[in-house]
Amino acid sequence: MSQPHQQPHLTRWIIVAILLAIAAAMVAPTFAMQFEIGGEIFLRVLKMIVVPLVVASVMTGILGMGDVRKLGRPGLYTVLYYLATTFMAVIVGLVIVNVIRPGLSVAEEQKARLIEEKPARQQLYEHLATQTDLSDEAIAKAFGDDEYIDGKNRSMTRILRNLVLMLFTDNLFLSAVETQLLPLIMFSIAFAGMLTTMGERASLLTSFITQLNDALMAFILLIMRVAPLGIFCLVAGRFGMANAQGEFLAELSKTAWYSASVFIGLAFHAFVTLPAVLYFFTKRNPYRFMVQMGQALLTAFSTSSSSATLPLTMEAAVDEAGISKQSVDFVLPLGATINMDGTALYEAVAAIFIAQVVGADLSFAQQVTVAITATLAAIGAAGIPEAGLVTMVIVLTAVGLPVEYITIILSVDWLLDRFRTTVNVFGDACGAAIVEKSMPVVESTG
Ligand code: ASP
Repeated sequence: MSQPHQQPHLTRWIIVAILLAIAAAMVAPTFAMQFEIGGEIFLRVLKMIVVPLVVASVMTGILGMGDVRKLGRPGLYTVLYYLATTFMAVIVGLVIVNVIRPGLSVAEEQKARLIEEKPARQQLYEHLATQTDLSDEAIAKAFGDDEYIDGKNRSMTRILRNLVLMLFTDNLFLSAVETQLLPLIMFSIAFAGMLTTMGERASLLTSFITQLNDALMAFILLIMRVAPLGIFCLVAGRFGMANAQGEFLAELSKTAWYSASVFIGLAFHAFVTLPAVLYFFTKRNPYRFMVQMGQALLTAFSTSSSSATLPLTMEAAVDEAGISKQSVDFVLPLGATINMDGTALYEAVAAIFIAQVVGADLSFAQQVTVAITATLAAIGAAGIPEAGLVTMVIVLTAVGLPVEYITIILSVDWLLDRFRTTVNVFGDACGAAIVEKSMPVVESTG
């Protein structure tokens, strides 16, 4: 069984690491940038175990239930929770962007310049490719370039079709290589479900999977020892680069009201909506819960990736917040992939902001379209840096805005991404705590 509060000081050390890194990036940006390699190593180490961890933990979660039919209720609650909270986040975003109207406060000549400066698509793809680790082709595909996207041919049915297809793969190994977690999760649920019906004949395989999962969790504890150092390097490297380029503050101030709208929306969702939902269903103190999840939230901020953070999220949820392993195994891997409240909120704000800048007046029906497509776009976004920027194309094309205008928000996205990823991870953690209540009672396997 896990020992609670194994790493009581870790969160504190991570906070110190982030503050030191930001200070170093402010004072000596060129020096701070040198730490980039350390950050990259830490990211790789985290990402390295994500695929085996997801497969082993989802399978262990199902095996622990003993019978896949018991999955019905928690499964339904999980999906309902994901959809409901994502939609709530979108509504918060829409209200805020319509009240603040950040697009109107961009000065006229700035607007003209922003729009004129819109780079060719190729440039946009290249920028996104460096930011997201996706290939140029994958991004072009997301942008629908393989099917003359010009305008509105991305119908809702097409978006839904793509989302459904994301659940399946014709090659498990390719999915593993490309870290496409969704089809792996689907396979793991089905395969482990079948194992539970095989009884003794599968006992060796069953204990192998469970032990592999235990070993991977133990391995995460090992990785966590270097987390503060890794996080220092990540933050120093990225903030150092932004400061060394020098234009960052100028860029931020150009779109200050837009960024402020995203920040206010994210803060509202993280400090009001999610805590209210969590308290309503679990009676847990939401702010204490936030502190318990601290190491995961700070890692999400530092890595901009829910997937890379997943190992630490699972660890904190079990060992710090005391959520049952079963709920964590089931809810968090899926959540890291499809439950993205922060991303959905940001997509809604960004799309309306772009509409405001280019002077497009969106009708109520179009705002509803934004709400629905932002939810779908967030579900479709991978848990990697700036993936939300790529799936934004779904929202923009749905309301007929040209996708090149994404450039308007490009330069500040890396920073906003950190905050929305943190909210994404917090949303996942709240989900695990809530769905725990509907898990079938099984004897502990620890
Ligand atoms: N970086 C986000 C995540 O990993 C996705 C996004 O909004 O770009 O959760």
